[in-house]
Amino acid sequence: MRRVSIFGATGSIGQNTIDLIARAPEEYRVVALTGGRNVAQLAEDARRLRAEVAVAADEPLLPELRERLAGSGIEAQAGRQALVEAADRPADWVMSAIVGAAGLEPGLRALQQGAALALANKESMVCAGRLMMRTAEAHGGRVLPVDSEHSAVFQALIGEDMAAVERVIITASGGAFRDWPLEDLHKATPAQAATHPNWDMGQRITIDSASMFNKALELIETREFFGLDPAKIETVVHPESMIHALVGFNDGAFMAHVGPPDMRHAIGFALHYPERRTLPVERLDLVKLGALTFRPACETRWPALRLAREVMEAGGLSGAVFNAAKEVALDAFIDGRISFTRMAGVVEEVLTRLSSQVRHIDDAFDLDMVVEVDHLARVGAGEIIAATA
Ligand code: NDP
Repeated sequence: MRRVSIFGATGSIGQNTIDLIARAPEEYRVVALTGGRNVAQLAEDARRLRAEVAVAADEPLLPELRERLAGSGIEAQAGRQALVEAADRPADWVMSAIVGAAGLEPGLRALQQGAALALANKESMVCAGRLMMRTAEAHGGRVLPVDSEHSAVFQALIGEDMAAVERVIITASGGAFRDWPLEDLHKATPAQAATHPNWDMGQRITIDSASMFNKALELIETREFFGLDPAKIETVVHPESMIHALVGFNDGAFMAHVGPPDMRHAIGFALHYPERRTLPVERLDLVKLGALTFRPACETRWPALRLAREVMEAGGLSGAVFNAAKEVALDAFIDGRISFTRMAGVVEEVLTRLSSQVRHIDDAFDLDMVVEVDHLARVGAGEIIAATA
């Protein structure tokens, strides 16, 4: 039986992962399930999957979690430290689906015990891609992409020589405001931004899709994951979200990964890798689809894309600054303290402020350095937002 753990089990990716695992309970032994605040869901899934331990990130919720698991024989734990330590429990396959930089440390710990890490938490790659890859290599672990675009690129590259890759194009739906007049964007509300035309996802990533900060994170993730020159990485708006990514080779061929949007494809691919297994996802119907359309990804409408390019060029720990500033700006937008269009301005100002400190950090950085830079960027973003308000 394969031992599996799911970090961020109560979220959108976590629930899709549970859906796949619960279909074949005889194949898996569930070690750890973690959540943030939704202890009702966490306890229900821990009981259903007979997990060894359930951990809520929010420490004051421990009594409630204990009560919900009473009599089940499942360990109940809570708090940041317990959550990170749950990643030390031996597991063969670990899903990293916590949202934000909070997902980095558990993912690293899982890699340190040699697990295959299915990585939905793109922030880990953006903040500390080299550290993640180095840790996997040193301990016999492996990072498997779960972001649909990166899973698509990974699949298109199977059996290929990286030296033959000319371009990687990841597609973007354009999010909630792709058809809004530019001059109206500053009026966009969090509720409007949290609706997605094609994908059903968590609130934060859905808003990040509207601002294209999600695509910006993914461009950086592509660079870190596949070690590509930034000049070879592009994005294009593709409103139907049927093509997830394309890889262009030096003989002019393009390999495209195509399929209806359903995260269970990428999760299932990572779960069964290197095998392909039958998955409960809708099949492609080209005739019903009729046509696919594409538009340029405009950096005036979505300045996050320009910032991502600058971050990739700058290197060092610029990705950690970018991500932390973005997380703080997103919180401020959700709380109504800044406008939708101000988010990119805040991130740009923090990048400028910390640029000289982070761009020359070499690839041998450790977790402490990432945590320190993340903290500096959060403080900087907080100050800039307070000065704006
Ligand atoms: P959700 O918001 O739906 O879920 C996030 C999960 O993380 C929940 O289990 C939540 O717990 C938990 N969590 C939140 N904050 C913390 C914290 N500080 N410490 C520990 N756990 C925490 O997000 P998604 O599932 O949409 O996204 C998860 C990750 O996957 C993100 O990095 C996202 O970018 C990435 N991703 C998501 C896709 C999608 O389709 N949803 C597609 C590709 C990538 P609780 O809810 O109990 O509070």
